[in-house]
Amino acid sequence: MFEDKNLVCSDCQVEFVFSSGDQEFFAERGFTEPKRCKPCRQAAKQNARGGGFGGGGGGYDRGPKQFFPAVCSGCGIQTEVPFQPDGRKPVYCRDCFKPAPRY
Ligand SMILES: [Zn+2]
Ligand SMILES: [Zn+2]
Repeated sequence: MFEDKNLVCSDCQVEFVFSSGDQEFFAERGFTEPKRCKPCRQAAKQNARGGGFGGGGGGYDRGPKQFFPAVCSGCGIQTEVPFQPDGRKPVYCRDCFKPAPRY
C-alpha cells in the first residue's frame, strides 16, 4: 500500500503532499515521483503551451521584427530585409543601401 508522502517542490521549495492515490497513479504508469507541486506543474504546462498565463510581469507578445531573405541588387550577396521583396524593386544589403556619393 501507498502512504501519503511529503515532497519538496524544486521550483518554489514548498512542501506538498504526494498522496497515496497519486503515488498509485504514478506507479501504474511507471512515472517517477513529481519534482514539483501541482501549481508549479500546472504553470509549467501553461508556459509550455505558450500563452494564456496572465499573471503579471512583462510580456513579450510581439516577436522580433520579421526579416525576409533577399539577394542584394548591388553586390549580389544574400541579405535580409524587413519587408517582403516583390521581385521587381531592387533590394539592397546594408552596405549598398548607403546613399551613393554624388559627383
Ligand atoms: Zn512549487
Ligand atoms: Zn549589397
